[in-house]
Amino acid sequence: MKIVVIGSINMDYSAKVNKLPQKGETIRANEFYTTAGGKGANQAVAAKRLGADVYMIGAVGDDSAGKELCRRLEAEGVKAHGIKTVDTPSGNAMITVDVTGNNTIVVFAGANSEMNEDWLMENKNIIEEADYVIIQLEIPMETVKAAIRFSKSLDRKVILNPAPAAEMPEEIYKGLDLMTPNETELAEITRTTDIKEGAKQLLKKGVKSIVVTLGEKGSLYMDDTKEVYTNPYQVDAIDSTAAGDSFNAALAVGLSEDMSLEDALKFANAAGALTTTKLGAQASLPYRDEVNTFIKS
Ligand code: ADP
Repeated sequence: MKIVVIGSINMDYSAKVNKLPQKGETIRANEFYTTAGGKGANQAVAAKRLGADVYMIGAVGDDSAGKELCRRLEAEGVKAHGIKTVDTPSGNAMITVDVTGNNTIVVFAGANSEMNEDWLMENKNIIEEADYVIIQLEIPMETVKAAIRFSKSLDRKVILNPAPAAEMPEEIYKGLDLMTPNETELAEITRTTDIKEGAKQLLKKGVKSIVVTLGEKGSLYMDDTKEVYTNPYQVDAIDSTAAGDSFNAALAVGLSEDMSLEDALKFANAAGALTTTKLGAQASLPYRDEVNTFIKS
C-alpha cells in the first residue's frame, strides 16, 4: 500500500551539558549528536520500516544537512523525489540537555516553511497514486489546507496528526478521515481536558474519526457510532520521543492493509510502546518484524 507523508524534515543538533547555560554564558558540551528528525520524516521512516511503500513530499535547504537528510531517507527506502531543495537553510532543532534531563530547544522551521502549494501541485502525481496521506503541522497551514483539499478531491484517506497543536481553519476538519492528537494537543485545540468531550467537539466539526493517544495509558478511538479504548502494552519506557510518530505511521499502515480497526489500533499501540524502549527519534522507530514478534509475545 502506498502512503505519502507531507511534512517536515529537520536535522537535530543535541548537546549534553552539566547545566543549562545562563544568559550570556558559554559552556562546554560533554557530548554532541546530529540526528535526523522532523515529524514528517520520522513518520515516513516509521511507515517504511513497518512495511509500506512510502513517498515523502517536503523541502530541505541547499546545504550539507539537506543533502544528508535526503540521503538518510533514501537509505531507509523512502522515495524522496518529492523533496525540493530551497535557498532557506534546512529545518533544524538545537537541543541542550543537562544531566538531570532538563532541556532547552530552539527550532528553526527553515526550508519547511517553503513547503508551499505550488510544490505540492508539482508532486500531485505522488498523491494521485497514494492510498493514505499523512500530514502534521510543521509546514505552513496554507499548505496543510491545500494538501487536505487536493487529497480529498481524489478521495484519498487523510490522516492529520495535529502536532504541534495550532489553531486550524474550519475547512481542515471537514476534510479529515482521521485526526490523531495526543492529550495535550487535544486540550489545546478544543480547550477542554475532558478527552471524550474534546473528541466529540472534533467530530462535530466534521472529522470522521479521532484517535487520542494517551501515552502509557494507550489510546482512545472515537467516531459518530463507536468508541474503542485500546490498552497499552507494558514496557520499560526510557524515552518517549517519536512514540506518537511511530503510532501514527503504524495506524496508517494497519488501516491501509485493511486490518480491522481493533487490530490496527493494537498494532499502533505496540509500535508506539516499542519506540519508548529505545533512545532517540528515528533510531528508536521499530521494524515490522519487531512489532509482530512483540504483539505475539
Ligand atoms: P506523543 O509522542 O505524540 O506525545 P504518546 O505519548 O501519546 O504520543 O504516545 C503514542 C502512543 O505510544 C500511545 O498511544 C501508546 O500506545 C504508546 N506509548 C507511549 N508511551 C508509552 C508507554 N510509556 N508505555 C506503553 N505505551 C506507550
